Amino acid sequence: MFVGHLAAGFALKARVREAPLGPLLAGTAFLDFLFGVFVMIGLERVVVHDPPVFRNWELHIGYSHSLLVSVLYSVALGWLAGRVWRSTSVGVALGLAVFSHFVLDVVSHRADMPLVGLGMNHDVLLGTGLATHPLAFFLVELGWCLLAWRWYDGGNHRLLLMFLVLMAIWANNVFGFVPQPALSSSGQAAFTIFGFVIAGALLWWAARPTEERALRTSP
Ligand SMILES: [Zn+2]
Repeated sequence: MFVGHLAAGFALKARVREAPLGPLLAGTAFLDFLFGVFVMIGLERVVVHDPPVFRNWELHIGYSHSLLVSVLYSVALGWLAGRVWRSTSVGVALGLAVFSHFVLDVVSHRADMPLVGLGMNHDVLLGTGLATHPLAFFLVELGWCLLAWRWYDGGNHRLLLMFLVLMAIWANNVFGFVPQPALSSSGQAAFTIFGFVIAGALLWWAARPTEERALRTSP
Protein backbone atom coordinates (compact mmCIF):
# COMPACT_ATOMS: atom_id res chain seq x y z
CA MET A 1 0.00 0.00 0.00
CA PHE A 2 1.01 3.59 -0.48
CA VAL A 3 -1.80 6.17 -0.13
CA GLY A 4 -3.64 3.74 2.18
CA HIS A 5 -0.87 4.13 4.77
CA LEU A 6 -1.35 7.90 4.88
CA ALA A 7 -5.13 7.39 5.05
CA ALA A 8 -4.60 5.67 8.41
CA GLY A 9 -3.32 9.02 9.73
CA PHE A 10 -6.63 10.64 8.81
CA ALA A 11 -8.60 7.78 10.36
CA LEU A 12 -6.69 8.29 13.64
CA LYS A 13 -7.03 12.07 13.47
CA ALA A 14 -10.81 11.57 13.17
CA ARG A 15 -10.75 9.78 16.53
CA VAL A 16 -8.15 11.92 18.34
CA ARG A 17 -8.72 15.49 17.14
CA GLU A 18 -6.00 17.01 19.33
CA ALA A 19 -3.30 14.88 17.67
CA PRO A 20 -1.29 16.92 15.11
CA LEU A 21 -1.97 15.79 11.54
CA GLY A 22 1.57 16.20 10.14
CA PRO A 23 3.28 13.93 12.71
CA LEU A 24 0.42 11.41 12.38
CA LEU A 25 0.98 11.20 8.61
CA ALA A 26 4.75 10.92 9.09
CA GLY A 27 4.13 8.19 11.69
CA THR A 28 2.14 6.07 9.24
CA ALA A 29 5.11 6.11 6.83
CA PHE A 30 7.82 5.72 9.46
CA LEU A 31 8.54 2.02 8.78
CA ASP A 32 8.98 2.77 5.07
CA PHE A 33 11.30 5.71 5.86
CA LEU A 34 13.41 3.24 7.84
CA PHE A 35 13.19 0.72 4.99
CA GLY A 36 14.52 3.39 2.60
CA VAL A 37 17.43 4.25 4.85
CA PHE A 38 18.21 0.60 5.68
CA VAL A 39 18.28 -0.35 1.98
CA MET A 40 20.63 2.54 1.26
CA ILE A 41 23.08 1.42 3.97
CA GLY A 42 22.82 -2.23 2.87
CA LEU A 43 20.97 -3.58 5.92
CA GLU A 44 17.83 -4.51 3.96
CA ARG A 45 17.18 -5.47 0.33
CA VAL A 46 14.55 -5.05 -2.33
CA VAL A 47 14.70 -7.00 -5.59
CA VAL A 48 12.21 -5.82 -8.19
CA HIS A 49 11.30 -8.60 -10.63
CA ASP A 50 9.87 -8.01 -14.08
CA PRO A 51 7.49 -6.32 -14.76
CA PRO A 52 8.45 -3.70 -12.14
CA VAL A 53 5.13 -3.37 -10.32
CA PHE A 54 4.52 -3.56 -6.58
CA ARG A 55 3.47 -7.23 -6.52
CA ASN A 56 6.88 -8.14 -7.98
CA TRP A 57 8.87 -6.51 -5.21
CA GLU A 58 10.83 -9.13 -3.30
CA LEU A 59 11.37 -7.56 0.12
CA HIS A 60 13.86 -8.44 2.85
CA ILE A 61 12.73 -6.09 5.60
CA GLY A 62 13.45 -7.67 8.98
CA TYR A 63 14.89 -4.52 10.56
CA SER A 64 12.18 -2.07 9.55
CA HIS A 65 9.00 -4.14 9.26
CA SER A 66 8.94 -7.25 11.51
CA LEU A 67 6.19 -7.53 14.11
CA LEU A 68 8.76 -7.30 16.89
CA VAL A 69 10.49 -4.13 15.65
CA SER A 70 7.16 -2.54 14.61
CA VAL A 71 5.92 -2.89 18.19
CA LEU A 72 9.20 -1.46 19.51
CA TYR A 73 9.16 1.54 17.12
CA SER A 74 5.46 2.19 17.84
CA VAL A 75 5.90 2.13 21.60
CA ALA A 76 9.06 4.27 21.48
CA LEU A 77 7.60 6.93 19.17
CA GLY A 78 4.23 6.87 20.94
CA TRP A 79 5.96 7.38 24.30
CA LEU A 80 8.06 10.22 22.85
CA ALA A 81 5.00 11.91 21.32
CA GLY A 82 3.13 11.60 24.63
CA ARG A 83 6.00 13.47 26.32
CA VAL A 84 6.36 16.14 23.62
CA TRP A 85 2.62 16.94 23.41
CA ARG A 86 2.03 16.20 27.11
CA SER A 87 -0.95 14.06 26.23
CA THR A 88 -1.51 10.34 26.60
CA SER A 89 -4.10 10.26 23.81
CA VAL A 90 -1.73 12.00 21.38
CA GLY A 91 0.98 9.50 22.34
CA VAL A 92 -1.37 6.55 21.78
CA ALA A 93 -2.53 8.00 18.44
CA LEU A 94 1.08 8.44 17.25
CA GLY A 95 1.99 4.92 18.37
CA LEU A 96 -1.01 3.50 16.54
CA ALA A 97 -0.12 5.53 13.43
CA VAL A 98 3.30 3.85 13.36
CA PHE A 99 1.82 0.39 14.04
CA SER A 100 -0.93 0.83 11.42
CA HIS A 101 1.81 0.51 8.80
CA PHE A 102 2.58 -3.05 9.92
CA VAL A 103 -1.12 -4.00 9.96
CA LEU A 104 -1.81 -2.61 6.47
CA ASP A 105 1.34 -4.25 5.07
CA VAL A 106 0.29 -7.64 6.46
CA VAL A 107 -3.19 -7.10 4.98
CA SER A 108 -1.73 -6.39 1.52
CA HIS A 109 1.78 -7.86 1.09
CA ARG A 110 2.82 -11.24 -0.13
CA ALA A 111 4.21 -13.27 2.80
CA ASP A 112 7.27 -11.09 3.38
CA MET A 113 6.49 -9.53 6.78
CA PRO A 114 8.69 -11.25 9.39
CA LEU A 115 7.51 -12.04 12.88
CA VAL A 116 10.88 -11.43 14.58
CA GLY A 117 13.13 -10.11 11.80
CA LEU A 118 16.59 -8.76 12.71
CA GLY A 119 18.23 -11.26 10.38
CA MET A 120 16.72 -14.32 12.09
CA ASN A 121 16.74 -17.56 10.08
CA HIS A 122 13.56 -19.66 9.74
CA ASP A 123 11.38 -16.70 10.67
CA VAL A 124 7.60 -16.82 10.20
CA LEU A 125 6.55 -14.58 7.30
CA LEU A 126 3.15 -12.88 7.37
CA GLY A 127 1.08 -11.43 4.50
CA THR A 128 -2.25 -12.20 2.85
CA GLY A 129 -0.98 -11.88 -0.72
CA LEU A 130 -3.74 -9.41 -1.61
CA ALA A 131 -1.20 -7.42 -3.68
CA THR A 132 -0.95 -10.32 -6.13
CA HIS A 133 -4.59 -9.61 -7.12
CA PRO A 134 -4.15 -6.07 -8.49
CA LEU A 135 -7.81 -5.12 -8.92
CA ALA A 136 -8.89 -6.35 -5.48
CA PHE A 137 -5.78 -4.78 -3.95
CA PHE A 138 -6.46 -1.42 -5.59
CA LEU A 139 -10.17 -1.43 -4.64
CA VAL A 140 -9.44 -2.29 -1.00
CA GLU A 141 -6.88 0.53 -0.75
CA LEU A 142 -9.19 2.99 -2.52
CA GLY A 143 -12.12 1.99 -0.30
CA TRP A 144 -9.98 2.44 2.83
CA CYS A 145 -8.88 5.93 1.65
CA LEU A 146 -12.50 6.96 1.06
CA LEU A 147 -13.56 5.62 4.46
CA ALA A 148 -10.76 7.52 6.23
CA TRP A 149 -11.63 10.69 4.29
CA ARG A 150 -15.29 10.41 5.34
CA TRP A 151 -14.43 9.83 8.99
CA TYR A 152 -12.02 12.76 8.95
CA ASP A 153 -14.14 15.32 7.03
CA GLY A 154 -16.54 14.14 4.34
CA GLY A 155 -17.11 17.82 3.43
CA ASN A 156 -13.49 18.48 2.38
CA HIS A 157 -13.62 18.01 -1.39
CA ARG A 158 -10.07 19.26 -1.91
CA LEU A 159 -8.88 16.36 0.23
CA LEU A 160 -11.08 13.86 -1.63
CA LEU A 161 -9.66 15.05 -4.95
CA MET A 162 -6.11 14.73 -3.64
CA PHE A 163 -6.75 11.16 -2.46
CA LEU A 164 -8.15 10.28 -5.91
CA VAL A 165 -5.26 11.90 -7.79
CA LEU A 166 -2.67 10.10 -5.65
CA MET A 167 -4.49 6.78 -6.04
CA ALA A 168 -4.58 7.32 -9.83
CA ILE A 169 -0.79 7.85 -9.83
CA TRP A 170 -0.25 4.84 -7.53
CA ALA A 171 -2.44 2.74 -9.87
CA ASN A 172 0.47 2.58 -12.29
CA ASN A 173 2.54 0.82 -9.64
CA VAL A 174 -0.27 -1.64 -9.02
CA PHE A 175 -1.31 -2.41 -12.62
CA GLY A 176 1.81 -1.37 -14.59
CA PHE A 177 0.04 0.60 -17.38
CA VAL A 178 3.14 2.61 -18.29
CA PRO A 179 6.48 0.80 -18.11
CA GLN A 180 8.68 2.25 -15.38
CA PRO A 181 12.43 2.67 -15.47
CA ALA A 182 14.29 -0.16 -13.75
CA LEU A 183 15.71 1.38 -10.58
CA SER A 184 18.56 0.07 -8.49
CA SER A 185 17.79 -1.07 -4.95
CA SER A 186 18.94 2.30 -3.52
CA GLY A 187 17.07 4.16 -6.26
CA GLN A 188 13.89 2.30 -5.30
CA ALA A 189 14.51 3.08 -1.62
CA ALA A 190 15.07 6.79 -2.28
CA PHE A 191 11.98 6.87 -4.49
CA THR A 192 9.87 5.32 -1.69
CA ILE A 193 10.95 8.02 0.79
CA PHE A 194 10.46 10.77 -1.80
CA GLY A 195 6.98 9.43 -2.67
CA PHE A 196 5.81 9.44 0.95
CA VAL A 197 7.16 12.94 1.61
CA ILE A 198 5.46 14.40 -1.47
CA ALA A 199 2.15 12.52 -1.05
CA GLY A 200 2.07 13.25 2.70
CA ALA A 201 2.73 16.95 2.11
CA LEU A 202 0.02 17.17 -0.56
CA LEU A 203 -2.58 15.46 1.65
CA TRP A 204 -1.57 17.65 4.61
CA TRP A 205 -2.02 20.74 2.42
CA ALA A 206 -5.37 19.49 1.09
CA ALA A 207 -6.57 19.02 4.69
CA ARG A 208 -5.79 22.65 5.65
CA PRO A 209 -9.39 23.95 5.39
CA THR A 210 -10.55 21.31 7.89
CA GLU A 211 -7.63 21.93 10.25
CA GLU A 212 -8.06 25.72 10.15
CA ARG A 213 -11.79 25.44 10.80
CA ALA A 214 -11.09 23.18 13.80
CA LEU A 215 -8.61 25.78 15.13
CA ARG A 216 -11.14 28.59 14.78
CA THR A 217 -13.94 26.70 16.53
CA SER A 218 -11.80 25.25 19.35
CA PRO A 219 -12.04 27.23 22.63
ZN1 LIG B 1 5.94 -0.91 4.33
